[in-house]
This record gives sequence, C-alpha cells and structure tokens, in this order.
Amino acid sequence: MQYDVIVIGSGPGGYVAAIRCAQLGLKTACIEKYSTFGGTCLNVGCIPSKALLDSSEHFYNASHTFKTHGISLDNLKVDFEQMIKRKSEVVAQTTGGISFLFKKNKITSYQGMGSFIDKNTIKITKTDGTEETISGKNVIIATGSKPSNLPFLPIDKKRIITSTEALTLKEVPKHLILIGGGVIGLELGSVYARLGAKVSVIEYMDSIIPTMDKSLGKELQKVLAKQGMEFYLGHKVTGASVKGTNVTVTFDTPKGEKKELKGDYCLVAVGRVAYTDKLDLENIGLTVEERGRKITVDEHLETSVKGVYAIGDVVRGAMLAHKAEDEGTFVAEIIAGQKPHINYNLIPGVVYTWPEVASVGYTEEQLKEKGVKFKLGVFPFKASGRARASMDTDGFVKVLADEATDEILGVHMIGPRAADMIAEAVVAMEYRASAEDISRMSHAHPTYTEAIREACLDATAKRAIHI
Ligand code: FAD
Ligand code: NAD
Repeated sequence: MQYDVIVIGSGPGGYVAAIRCAQLGLKTACIEKYSTFGGTCLNVGCIPSKALLDSSEHFYNASHTFKTHGISLDNLKVDFEQMIKRKSEVVAQTTGGISFLFKKNKITSYQGMGSFIDKNTIKITKTDGTEETISGKNVIIATGSKPSNLPFLPIDKKRIITSTEALTLKEVPKHLILIGGGVIGLELGSVYARLGAKVSVIEYMDSIIPTMDKSLGKELQKVLAKQGMEFYLGHKVTGASVKGTNVTVTFDTPKGEKKELKGDYCLVAVGRVAYTDKLDLENIGLTVEERGRKITVDEHLETSVKGVYAIGDVVRGAMLAHKAEDEGTFVAEIIAGQKPHINYNLIPGVVYTWPEVASVGYTEEQLKEKGVKFKLGVFPFKASGRARASMDTDGFVKVLADEATDEILGVHMIGPRAADMIAEAVVAMEYRASAEDISRMSHAHPTYTEAIREACLDATAKRAIHI
C-alpha cells in the first residue's frame, strides 16, 4: 500500500483527520476536488460568512449606535465591492494556511475528484481529464454537504440563490426574500439587513431556529424585527419565478390563503444534504440513506466496509465544522489504535447574528419530553453592567439544572459574545458541574460571563444578586 490513510475531502473534517493521522505517524494523503483546501467551511461557509457578518456589524454600529456613544460620522456609506474583496482575502489567507499545514505535516495532497475503484484503491480524476490511482490501507470519506433545494423552486444562482452565491453578490439587495429561518438564513439575512436591504423571512415552522431551545427563537425574532427584518412563520412556500431583476415568491399562510412577495433576490436556505456524488460508492457495496443521503457509520465512524470510515456532514449528527473536526481527530486515533471519545450531547450550536445565540446540552422542550425534573435559572443582559456599558442589553442566559442533583443539563443564551461564552458551559458540563459549582467560581467583573454565574445562582437557589 502506498498510504496508511487516504482522506477524500479537505473540509474541517478531512484536513483535521489528515493532520491528526500524520501526527500519529501514519503516511497520509488528502484528495480535494476544488483548487483550494478547507471545504465548505473555509471557502463558502463559516469563514466568509463571519467576515461579512463582522464588516456589516461595523457598518450597522457606525450608523445606529456610534451617535449615542458620542461619535459623529458624516457621509457614511458602504463600499460593498471592498467588503466582498476583504472577505475573499480572509478566505485566501485561511485556505492557504491549510496548504502550509499539509506541507508542514508531510501530507501528500492531490487535486481532483476521488472515487472508489475498490476499498483500498482510489482513482483521482483531475480537471484536465487525466487520471491517477493511489492505494491505502484505510480511507476516510469527508466529502461534506451541499445546499438542499425545493423540487418546485429551481435555483438559477442569479436571482434565486443559495448561500454560496449570497457570499459573492455584486450589490446589496433591495429586498431579499429568505426561504428558511434557520442558521444560514438568519446569518446572511443579518448581513444584508444591516447593509440596508429589506429582508423577509418565510419559515415553514412556527418559530425561527426551530431546533434550538424555543426561548431563543422567540427572543431572536424580537431583536431581528427591531433591526428591520420581517417574518412569515408557519407559512408554506409554493413557488418562485424570475422576471428580469424581479423575483416573486408565492406561499400559503397558516390559514391556507395564497400570498406573494416581490423582491430582487431570493435566498433558499432550507438545510443541506450529504455530498457523495461521483464517489462510486457502489464499487465497494455502500449505499446512502434515503433521507439526507448520509453514509451510515457505526460508533467508530466505520462504514459497513472494513477500513472505510466517514466523518463530518456526510454522516449523522449536526452539520457543524467543530463536529466534523472532532470526528476527524476521533477517526485518526481509532485507526492508530487509540480509544478516543466524543460527547455528542455537548457539541455547542451557535448562530452568529447580533446578539449571538449559543446553546449546549438539553433544551427545555427535550427535558420535558424525557420527563426529567429540572430547575430553571435566567439572567437578562439588561441587568449586566458590562452589557449596559457596551449597549448590548438584549437577550439572556438560561440554565437548566437537574432538580435533585443540581447538575447542569443545558445552557442556552442569546446575547453579546454568546458564541465565545458558551465554552464555559461546555467545560462545566464535560466535568458534570452543578449550577452551584459555577455560582461559587470567580467571574471577572465587569464581563458578560457574570450573566452565566447569575443564571446559575438563579437556577440553584433563586439567589441571583443583580435581579
Ligand atoms: P466540507 O467542509 O463540505 O468539505 C468537504 C470537501 O470535500 C469539499 O471541499 C469538497 O470539495 C470535497 N469533496 C467532495 N467530494 C469529493 C470527491 N469525490 N473527491 C475530492 N474531494 C471531494 N459550521 C459551523 O460550525 N460554524 C459556522 O459558523 C458555520 N457557518 C456556515 C455558513 C455557511 C454559509 C455554510 C454553508 C455552512 C456553515 N457551517 C458552519 C457548516 C460547516 O461549513 C460544515 O458543517 C463543515 O464545513 C462540514 O465539514 P466537512 O469536512 O464534513 O465537509
Ligand atoms: P437549517 O436546518 O438551520 O434551517 C433550515 C430552515 O428552513 C429550518 O428552520 C426549516 O424549518 C426551514 N424550512 C425547511 N423547508 C422549508 C420550506 N419549504 N419553506 C420554508 N422553510 C423551510 O439549515 P440551513 O440554515 O440551510 O443551514 C444548513 C446547515 O449548515 C445547518 O445544519 C447548520 O448547522 C449549518 N450552518 C451552521 C452555522 C453555524 O454554526 N453558525 C451557520 C450556517 C450553517
């Protein structure tokens, strides 16, 4: 065999798996069909969306909150071309960083489409049509996902677009119609709402971010509505058509009435499906699941074919970069004969709107459904001195703790820097801390993290200090 491990796909699952394999002394190759490494996350996902979220947040603050801070600006305007250029530079630096890491770790990289000839032999089809074959003792499939579409709503990538096109528009939309009030819709919707677009969200369920703790969706909707977004919840999209630069989206109201919205762009963000096209899985006897087209794996992330593993968006579980990374490390260590562990219940979920939304562990709805008795502690940011100083008083921290043992079972927050603060909850829950444990630990003052301690004090004995 040429290699100990061949990784197909270089997203956060694939490149982390390759680096960890190399660290463990395994001779490793990574195949990527695109011209740059890093997958969805680095090229058209996490990194570019956060670059635009940060830029647009600066503009929003400059136009909405600077005055109150005592800063006056004249002739403020958006240079959208420069904003997109900066985003592309951030992407280029980040993807270039993976090339550097591959070289540093002596990982052989191949540019081209990987497909199975048999379970140990992979064909690489390059863009110029030439082919090369490599062999490996183990193969890790890390081919990620692509946007889902609605069968009755054709995406033309010009006016009816996915997140990929929304990251490289040439102009700020006048009226952006979003189909799907999930993570992508609300993050990219926030970018354009902050830059002055009218943004309308059509969501099938009765709440935005419907899989998170219900209280978060309710609060986020309130805040985003203040920022100018409008919401059509419980509405069913039935079609969309394009005429010149106009898009018309038709939908049914919860009462069954027919409605339509007219805008200049429609972003379809209704989830993602696993990407296994052109892998020739049938050559090794693998099929994909009917729903979501995912590859089935066991508790070691091994498929039904020995020595063939799959990780990240292409397998069950949350479609998150850090989940893919954890699985990359996990599988490398399994191949090296170690006994790694992933606690799937403690993988945090974050929405990078402002305020940010972050969550880990069980939601209130899940605990009720499981019949677990719990104590609830809440602390609003309007009672936080730090939040008042920065004018970020929307949101709260909510802690759910076991009624009998006080063990923290879930932490859900919406507020400033929630994305970073959730790490404290993850650490606490990994060590099975009680709400009282956190409430007895020193938290620097003034910081947003004091809100976590106060919510724990509220949960453990209704003795928060500042409410
Ligand atoms: P991917 O990143 O999709 O990488 C798979 C790679 O495999 C791709 O580069 C693809 O070209 C390659 N490939 C596929 N088939 C083949 C083949 N046959 N041969 C060779 N190469 C192949 N997650 C977060 O945790 N935080 C965020 O803030 C976040 N923001 C996001 C924003 C957007 C707009 C989007 C779309 C997603 C976001 N995500 C975020 C989700 C995150 O990007 C994915 O969960 C993550 O990229 C999955 O990693 P992966 O390695 O499984 O797959
Ligand atoms: P999502 O699952 O978060 O949201 C899709 C939304 O669309 C849901 O609320 C769903 O109810 C709604 N929907 C589905 N069909 C619909 C229809 N016909 N009409 C109206 N609404 C409909 O999916 P997404 O926003 O497309 O994101 C895809 C994946 O990417 C997610 O799994 C997410 O984990 C990942 N992602 C993560 C981040 C992050 O971590 N910050 C950011 C972006 C994307």
